[in-house]
Amino acid sequence: MLIFNIKAMDLKSGLPFWLIKNGLTDDYLTLDTNIETEILIIGSGITGALTAHFLCDAGVKCVIVDKRMSSTGSTTASTAQLQYEIDTYLFDLIDKVGEVNAVKAYKKCLESIYTLEKIIKKLKIDGHFNWRSSLYIASNAAGFKDLEKEYEIRKKHKLPVTLLNQKQLKSKFNIDKKGALYNDCSAQIDTFKLCNEILDYHKKHSGLLVYSHTEIVKIENKKGYILAHTEKKNTIKAKKIVAAPGFESEKLLKEKVMQLNSTYVIVSKPMKEDEFWQEKCLIWETARPYIYIRTTEDNRIMVGGFDEPFQDPKRRDKLMEKKNEAIIKRFKKFFPDSKIEIDFYWCGTFGETKDGLPFIGEHKDHPNMYFALGYGGNGITFSVIAAEMIKDLYVGNPTDADLFAFDR
Ligand SMILES: Cc1cc2nc3c(=O)[nH]c(=O)nc-3n(C[C@H](O)[C@H](O)[C@H](O)COP(=O)(O)OP(=O)(O)OC[C@H]3O[C@@H](n4cnc5c(N)ncnc54)[C@H](O)[C@@H]3O)c2cc1C
Repeated sequence: MLIFNIKAMDLKSGLPFWLIKNGLTDDYLTLDTNIETEILIIGSGITGALTAHFLCDAGVKCVIVDKRMSSTGSTTASTAQLQYEIDTYLFDLIDKVGEVNAVKAYKKCLESIYTLEKIIKKLKIDGHFNWRSSLYIASNAAGFKDLEKEYEIRKKHKLPVTLLNQKQLKSKFNIDKKGALYNDCSAQIDTFKLCNEILDYHKKHSGLLVYSHTEIVKIENKKGYILAHTEKKNTIKAKKIVAAPGFESEKLLKEKVMQLNSTYVIVSKPMKEDEFWQEKCLIWETARPYIYIRTTEDNRIMVGGFDEPFQDPKRRDKLMEKKNEAIIKRFKKFFPDSKIEIDFYWCGTFGETKDGLPFIGEHKDHPNMYFALGYGGNGITFSVIAAEMIKDLYVGNPTDADLFAFDR
């Protein structure tokens, strides 16, 4: 029996832009009776919503519960850049997990962006999905050396990549740095909007049941089924449970599978069209801590980064003003003439694993459960991968299940 006795985590502070832009969505009811379903999904963030999508699409009856208002965990705090390149260089990942698996992981991330676009088209929703090019900029000479090495290995494995030298970067993007990796297969979304659109769609078309303010506090394995107990003393009987609790997985798992960090985001006032860089591409850099940059539908600049290697909300929140200054200062290293001014800012928790890869699938200590833990800077692409893999596991058609296994 699994009993959760750790207090809720404070996942974010400040004013996440997406919540203000979209406003509160129609909330769902709290569960106040005992119910039965085929699959119970814990967590209504982007991971839970996508998992529900794949399962509903395969004709599986699902219930989602969330202890918060739906989709208001890390999903509201995200800067939502979709990139196939993860925080760990491919050449480093090869050292950690071997060439075959490292390349597979990168290719799965690339594929996941196309998968997400297909889902959006199929459900006729929007999620403000936009394809974008992306620049991974060398912050200094050492960074450029790494990028050269990375370029060779990605090219060898036919991943989309172009190496720009200092002159090319300056002439095309007017950015004066040593060089960059460029690709045109990245995207940006509004994750909060997308998440709610997916939930609404399946609520209407697939009989998906969503309950908010419904916390799972205990899980029991019984003969032939699994029973989840809510804080309000109701039960949900299911064949399987999918745990998609975001960065609060330590309540569900006994072992520590990630390092929790704090990260900071600012959003500018709307800018004039001629104040943007070429292609409004996504930008990030080789320095650690780094910043990552995107634009929004209403012509704002969103910059995140300056991560701290701790989760303590009080310490995290105290640093917000200082981090805003640091982010703007670093942004101006790329765009010295920018008139960027801050309109919104917030900070949030995010987790990262040792190799930068997610944990997806079954866990030996938790029978009848699947875990969808997409950690790292690419959490959303990992959510897409996790959702599809879990559906495949459930319907008995698993592929590459070892890639993101707990015991990899
Ligand atoms: C500032 C910031 C910037 C980011 N930028 C990017 C980016 O550019 N690109 C990218 O790909 N990723 C990014 N990420 C990561 C990405 O946002 C996350 O990986 C993703 O949103 C996680 O979604 P999730 O559904 O797994 O978690 P969440 O959105 O946190 O959802 C999990 C839900 O589970 C619920 N829950 C937990 N435990 C229980 C329980 N016991 N009972 C009931 N409900 C429970 C929670 O209330 C929560 O709502 C960023 C994250 C942050 C914080």
